[in-house]
Amino acid sequence: MPLELAKYGNGEIPAAALSSIGQGSHTMWAPAAQAYQTLRAAAARDGVTIEATDSYRPYEQQVDLAQRKGLYSQGGLAAKPGTSEHGWGLSLDLDLNTKALTWMRAHAKDYGFSENVPREPWHWTFTT
Ligand SMILES: [Zn+2]
Repeated sequence: MPLELAKYGNGEIPAAALSSIGQGSHTMWAPAAQAYQTLRAAAARDGVTIEATDSYRPYEQQVDLAQRKGLYSQGGLAAKPGTSEHGWGLSLDLDLNTKALTWMRAHAKDYGFSENVPREPWHWTFTT
């Protein structure tokens, strides 16, 4: 966890510390957003398309998601609000076909991203 983020708190990252990832309104912590854009461009050069479906998730959105999808602890798909990795602006959920997933598993680490949640091959996190 970068110190800059720890001081803000999960789901409380100010807009000034976030950056567009170049897809829709999705944002991440600025250094992660930059790394993702580099990764995505490299994938494109290899003929692989990567799309993000979820990115930074403010606290209120974590509450909403937990209500809609249920908590992990109760068999659902959402983290307890205030604990989601998406609340740090470090994680993305990606729409990956088999080719794209294979590419990510081979190359994402070169850009600082890792597949770090069991049974969630769509969830990738930037680690410094
Ligand atoms: Zn995720």
